[in-house]
Amino acid sequence: MSATPVPDSIPQPSSKSDFSIHNIPFGIFSTRQDPTPRACTAYGDYVIDLKIMHGLAFFKHLDFPVDVFAQATLNDFIALGKETTSAVRHQVQNLLKDDRAFGIFFNYCAVPMEEAIMHLPIKIGDYTDFYSSIEHATNVGCLFRDPENALLPNWKRMPIGYHGRASSIVVSGTPVRRPLGQSRPLEEGGTPQFGPSKLLDFELEMGFVIGQSTKLGQRIPVEQAEDYIFGMVLFNDWSARDIQGWEYVPLGPFLGKNFASTMSPWIVTMEALEPFRVDGPEQDPPVLPYLAFSGKKNYDIHLEVVIHTDDFDATVCQSNFKYMYWNMPQQLAHHTVNGCNVNVGDMYASGTISGKTKTSYGSMLELSWRGTHPLPMPDGSERRFIHDGDTVIMRGYAEKDGIRVGFGEAAGKVLPAEEMA
Ligand code: CA
Repeated sequence: MSATPVPDSIPQPSSKSDFSIHNIPFGIFSTRQDPTPRACTAYGDYVIDLKIMHGLAFFKHLDFPVDVFAQATLNDFIALGKETTSAVRHQVQNLLKDDRAFGIFFNYCAVPMEEAIMHLPIKIGDYTDFYSSIEHATNVGCLFRDPENALLPNWKRMPIGYHGRASSIVVSGTPVRRPLGQSRPLEEGGTPQFGPSKLLDFELEMGFVIGQSTKLGQRIPVEQAEDYIFGMVLFNDWSARDIQGWEYVPLGPFLGKNFASTMSPWIVTMEALEPFRVDGPEQDPPVLPYLAFSGKKNYDIHLEVVIHTDDFDATVCQSNFKYMYWNMPQQLAHHTVNGCNVNVGDMYASGTISGKTKTSYGSMLELSWRGTHPLPMPDGSERRFIHDGDTVIMRGYAEKDGIRVGFGEAAGKVLPAEEMA
């Protein structure tokens, strides 16, 4: 039985809903009644079936293939370009504003959100993870290297990143298995330890999705980069610190990172985030000309991380996307300056988003200062890192002048490691 009553007019979302009329994000869903994944948007407590809308000819003025919304990913829809995807948003918004549309539109196309099973919304060909928060990079530099020289000389010169693993990106709600792996020998020169990671961590990040492909050899200038960014998601770059610490020299992150990354199911368009543009931190020294930009390129998006168990919910971090030192256009301009091509559906994650205060650090590594300052939990237990059975929930929203645009959740429950053979 559905807990949401069947309305007889289009229900208004609450003022705290992530999915106001100003949002209209895109996702892929199915239901038990119709298990075929298909495209949708969200409004308040409802999912709106775009495939049915198309079937009812609500997009006939836009002239795009009828099967675009009948697919299990949004890649072909996104590839239609922002003019079309924007027109789809506007058509949904117009109908939602028109109460006469209830009978011909909402009544047929809306499904209570609790009946929707959300899927990974895009086929991700490539995934890159940046390292663009100066507070995070400084904290990690202090913890792992030298507090006097926490930032390496290249850090303020370019957005540092690494190529991640696309195959293990999962949608919110998918359980995450504690990984097995090697970690540093207990004695220098000894045999490495092997077993379940003891230092499992989250990384609070946001990702952007590429909306327009380029050819090999083509550079994306920083001032054109926004044309190539379709929208954003919440992103948890799960990290096994003990595996990472032993393997990362000399070539960087590998098995300590690629066992899972969790993303939120809704892609929020850059158009919906337009009212929330802000200036980023001052970049000093000045960047090279190919990274120079004008205007407001950061976004004021409140972010938080909750550890959920059967007994409690503990908010362990409150941060904001606006703290990012390197912005998305700079990341994309840098990524392509050597001619590296990008494809629709590629994922580019920000790196851990930490602020200046201790409660705004975006990982347990920083929050517990490498385990030396455990976080008290409401049930009297402590967390240095993430325990089996913990669910890590990331949430994010932008809010200004009565307009709220949110991302929903990126949540994952940690399961115990597989038994070793
Ligand atoms: Ca990361």
